[in-house]
Amino acid sequence: MKKEEIINPLTEIPDEIVATCEFDVKSGLALAIAPGVLVLRNKKMTAMNLVNAITTFSALGADITAKLAKACGFCDNCGDFGKGTPASWAAECALCEELLDIKNDIRVPDYLRDKAGINSNAKLSAETDEERGEIILSEAGYDYDISDVPPELLEVFRLSGVCLGELDEALRLERKIDVG
Ligand SMILES: [Zn+2]
Ligand SMILES: [Zn+2]
Repeated sequence: MKKEEIINPLTEIPDEIVATCEFDVKSGLALAIAPGVLVLRNKKMTAMNLVNAITTFSALGADITAKLAKACGFCDNCGDFGKGTPASWAAECALCEELLDIKNDIRVPDYLRDKAGINSNAKLSAETDEERGEIILSEAGYDYDISDVPPELLEVFRLSGVCLGELDEALRLERKIDVG
């Protein structure tokens, strides 16, 4: 019988961490990855392992949500203190309200993008000229904005008074947030 070669991706991880995680290379390991994140887990887990995983992910999710919210801060009616009271600034902020509804729904066929020299996945921004009945599209100059955030998360931030204007800016400027 041919011996199966097992590649151990854990050689760089200290033994005590491997032991605590109960990693089982033989049964297989799975990765969940996204830019800035890597989650390594066993393919076969006990019910208690899964309960631990759920608790860990929930705690981590709550923690990073709070850190992102804190980095954005509470909305002060986006700098326009004139109207309402501090408690109502976030809820009544017209700019945040507008940002909540922004959808990235400008679609332009690739041949037109090619002609304009705009990359097929570059974000577009639009300006309108009412008098001339024109919509002018151009390359936005940033890769991410608030339209990339799932609506459920936006709703949570909105209800907690987090400034969506600041969130949009942090996304567009790709600001680094210290999550410790
Ligand atoms: Zn604001
Ligand atoms: Zn606002």
